Amino acid sequence: MHYAVLTTGSCGNCYIFHEGDKAIIIDDGVTYTKLSRGLEMHGIPAEDIKAMFLTHLHPDHSKGVGVFQRKTGIPVYISDIAISRNGTVIDRQGIERNLLVPFSFGEEIRVDGFTVHPFRTCHDSEGSAGYRIVSDENVSVFLMTDTGVIPDEAAALAMNSDVKFIESNYDEDMLEKGPYPVHLRKRISGTYGHLSNTKAVEFARSVSRQGDSVYFVHVSANCNSPDVLRPFVMRSIPSGIFCRVCERGETFEGFRDAR
Ligand SMILES: [Zn+2]
Ligand SMILES: [Zn+2]
Repeated sequence: MHYAVLTTGSCGNCYIFHEGDKAIIIDDGVTYTKLSRGLEMHGIPAEDIKAMFLTHLHPDHSKGVGVFQRKTGIPVYISDIAISRNGTVIDRQGIERNLLVPFSFGEEIRVDGFTVHPFRTCHDSEGSAGYRIVSDENVSVFLMTDTGVIPDEAAALAMNSDVKFIESNYDEDMLEKGPYPVHLRKRISGTYGHLSNTKAVEFARSVSRQGDSVYFVHVSANCNSPDVLRPFVMRSIPSGIFCRVCERGETFEGFRDAR
């Protein structure tokens, strides 16, 4: 499997998974121009895209969706709860309801080339989701972002995944001493907020085995720093597990064969 991260963080999130002549996108917090250029840059033909999945409806994950739908007509999967509880947000972002495909948690979704297993996350956007994806070549990916706590279901799904994308949003100390007012600090570190470095790294350590790849994503610009997170990851995760701390807004790609 070939995968590409077009950007990650509060500035926008967009992940592409490509195998053979089939691809799926998770989240579209970028402009259509940036998405098109990203596909071109990573050598992914636009016609290979079979579906898009959304984690939730905050603009850094969904602001590009409306235009993407109108340009491509490709189905966009999102939880039934997210649709029913976020009507105003959907309309405000210009998202086409007739191109949204609702799923229920617990359901496995089959799209051309991939099987997708959504799971609940805990965030202040109702019906938010994380995903485990298994390609037809049997490469498995776990993606969990924008969650205040780690859902019970996540460990088993992550443990069985070759490549993991895990939010590592804030350093506790930097959040405490940083520029945000108290209510915002509480929102970020709360049950429906974001994942701290400590929780993310501990989780990654507990679910990873030799040969896995772990990407720490959605790193905050104001209350985190790759210079803080990187040494913490190095100290905590055994060698033999590939780790990368993703800079805010960074573009990169990776390749993974089935075990
Ligand atoms: Zn976000
Ligand atoms: Zn969010």
